[in-house]
Amino acid sequence: MSEELGITVKKEENFSEWYTEVILKAELADYAPTKGCMIIKPFGYAIWEKIQEIFNKMIKDEVKNVYFPLLIPERILKKEAEHIRPTSETIMYEYFSKWIDSWRDLPLRINQWCNIVRWETKSTKLFLRTREFLWQEGHTAHSTKEEADKEVMKRLLQYKELIEKYLAIPVLIGKKSEGEKFAGALYTTTLEALMPDGRALQMGTSHNLGQNFAKVFDIQFWTKEHKREYVWQTSWGITTRLIGALVMVHGDDKGLVLPPKISPIQVVIIPIYYNENEKRKVLEKAKEIKEKLKEKFEVELDDRDQYTPGFKFNYWELKGIPLRIEIGPKDLKEKTLVLARRDTLEKIKIKENELIEKVKELLEDVQESLFKKAKKFLEERIFEVKDCEEFKKRIENREGFVKIEWCSSLECEEKIKEEIGATCRLISFDEKPKGKKCLVCGKEAKVVAYFAKAY
Ligand SMILES: [Zn+2]
Repeated sequence: MSEELGITVKKEENFSEWYTEVILKAELADYAPTKGCMIIKPFGYAIWEKIQEIFNKMIKDEVKNVYFPLLIPERILKKEAEHIRPTSETIMYEYFSKWIDSWRDLPLRINQWCNIVRWETKSTKLFLRTREFLWQEGHTAHSTKEEADKEVMKRLLQYKELIEKYLAIPVLIGKKSEGEKFAGALYTTTLEALMPDGRALQMGTSHNLGQNFAKVFDIQFWTKEHKREYVWQTSWGITTRLIGALVMVHGDDKGLVLPPKISPIQVVIIPIYYNENEKRKVLEKAKEIKEKLKEKFEVELDDRDQYTPGFKFNYWELKGIPLRIEIGPKDLKEKTLVLARRDTLEKIKIKENELIEKVKELLEDVQESLFKKAKKFLEERIFEVKDCEEFKKRIENREGFVKIEWCSSLECEEKIKEEIGATCRLISFDEKPKGKKCLVCGKEAKVVAYFAKAY
């Protein structure tokens, strides 16, 4: 393989450059001619389609997909700006007030997959920081706060399942602090993952919007008791930055490493031959194997004649395909096959008749190993600190999450941001303070919170 095709930067040595090189060379995305924008290439887009497919399946029993226009009349934007801040909620909620009349119309649940544009002035980072990106935004309206609370948690847990079971990335879940919550929300819940450079990445959010927007957009309904009331709303979203997280968490010095459940291709078959006679026989067998696997797995046969097997090994390793099957003249004779795992690069010789079960077994093992490895990394990088000095040191060294018993005041949060350089990533749902004082101000601790440097 030529130098240009392979990854030239080590992940450990220059994480940021390594990241960009993997994305460009694995052909996930490219820079667009418009500053701050990206082109998502077929392989990257196929991963996004997988995410869409999985998440759609999770929500479609209750949620309907829609599409609202990108262009919003200034009149509607201004309406919200006076009260909260201009976001994409504006156009949808104008229509919620038209669609909802009585308790019979509730709950209302819609979702859209679309692009979003934000004025980003910092330097472009493919999938992580771009002016335009793709996302999914769910919006719901309910008759009570309790129902909205349940909705918020349900979507948060579905995101957790998507990210942990499919993307094999462990997350911490919790509530956002006052300083970090969505400005228009009653409260925000979040999923946070830890990247190999010790920085946290917000993987998704689910908000209880309370009645804030309902009051601005006049979304009222007749209750069963014939009273007029404002609805309770939620919104929740994930973006293409999940692809960035996949690259960072699992990738290595050879390129991408994809968990089988999210990889657009799970198994790639590489035929090996040295003359025309071998080529005919090997290709025939390779096609037969592809047919066998096709029913249960996403499989690709790389029969491009213009490239050598060695080139193809590197090519698919760079793209992170979880399993490779090598088949050559010797395998034909012995009725064997060689399977190579992308995560460990280990090669396993198997008998042809155990193909299906071995492939299944190995793919499951790759999926599980990737998750376990990432989980161990996360668990080893959550620190409880004794004082602000240690807090600051761990944050400066980008060691991971610092967990403290905290007073949860906005004042304290600002101080931590300025003096320690960390933001509150989340307040734990189930961990409660055990009587310690707030590290920063000495007042009574009310919550257990996780701080980190974040993307
Ligand atoms: Zn405090």
